[in-house]
Order: sequence, then structure tokens, then C-alpha cells
Amino acid sequence: MTDIILHRVLPISKRLISERVQSGETVVDATAGNGNDTLFLAELVGENGRVIAFDIQQKALDATKQHLGELAGRTRLILDSHANVREYVDGEIGGAMFNLGYLPYSEDESIITTPSSTIAALDALLGLLKKSGIITITVYDGHDGGSEERDALLAYIRTLHQGDVHAIRYELLNQRRNPPFLIAMEKMRDFTEVRKVADE
Ligand code: SAH
Repeated sequence: MTDIILHRVLPISKRLISERVQSGETVVDATAGNGNDTLFLAELVGENGRVIAFDIQQKALDATKQHLGELAGRTRLILDSHANVREYVDGEIGGAMFNLGYLPYSEDESIITTPSSTIAALDALLGLLKKSGIITITVYDGHDGGSEERDALLAYIRTLHQGDVHAIRYELLNQRRNPPFLIAMEKMRDFTEVRKVADE
């Protein structure tokens, strides 16, 4: 295969997270789904690290546990909305990943991430994140409700003070069939509540 540097979204999100997460840290998988990111994060944090992974569907957490195998011991799988992340995490996190939309291969594609809980979770996670930490969000907008979530999320991110957070969007422009795009955020200074531009 030829040597690619303009990778698809998933390898780029993993690379950005790997740049900053240190072994032994606590990290968050906001949307466990089938557990692919959970496994990646469990490998990254090592045996002394911890992955706190959320999903609102038990079958997603079951699939995740299965996928993790012996690394399940480094994870805490939580059947609750990521919007409640502050109830489960105390102290700083090294990074967080979101993968929006519905659970792949599920017969019920109507259970999707929603604007209000996605934004509430992101806002809380930005507060919990260490300085220089990264949060990645893989955004799918092809399903019913996807474009509303995308627009609400982008509108929220545009309000974030640029001294607090740098946010980028990365996307392949010539792929067919609604490929996802990536949002990545880097925390620029220590804070517990991110400043909003309208707050100034
Ligand atoms: N679209 C992606 C996978 C997304 S999986 C892909 O194709 O690879 C998204 C997961 O988020 C689903 O398993 C869903 O149950 C979960 N989810 C939805 N709302 C949630 C919430 N409020 N908190 C935590 N997980 C949620």
C-alpha cells in the first residue's frame, strides 16, 4: 500500500489522543458502542490507567466487555448518559473520545446521541480535562437527527473562548455515502468551567 498521510478520520483521532494521553491516566470513552475506542484507550493507558466508558444501552456495554477481553479490568463500564460524567469521574482526565450516532449493527437505529446530552457531556469533560489534553468527536450526520446534532454541536463549540480551547474540524471531502468528520479540541489553560464568548 502507498504511504498515506491524509488518513481517514479514525486513525487521525487516535493519533491526536495518543500524543497526549500518558500511561496510568484516567480517560473517558463517552460512547462505548461496540467498544473499539474503549479497547484502544485501555491499551493506551496501560495497566495502571483507567478507562471510564459510557453507554445508555446494556447491549453496547456487553459488546464492549466482550471486545475488551482481559483488558476489561482497566475499564469501568457505566450504563448511564455521558451527560452525568461528573458523577463518575473525580480528578483530572487525560483525554476523551466521542463517536456519535447510533450503535452499528443494532436493529434499533433510533437510539442516537442527542444534542443536549452530547453538549452537556462535552462541556463537563472540557472542565475535567488536563491542560494540553485532547477530546475527539467523530460526527456522523447522515442519519435522522444527525444534522441537527452536528449543527448544535458546532454552534456550541463556536462559543468557546479561544484562550481556553482550540477546536479543529478534519474531513475527507470526496468520499461517498456520508463519511464522518472529526472534531478535535485541545485545552489551552487550566479551568473547571470553560468560558463562553457570550459570557465576556
Ligand atoms: N456511529 C458510530 C458509532 C456510534 S455508537 C459508528 O458507526 O461507528 C454511539 C453509541 O452512543 C451508541 O451505542 C449509543 O447507545 C450511545 N449513546 C447514545 N446516547 C448516549 C448518551 N447520552 N450517553 C452515552 N452513550 C450514548
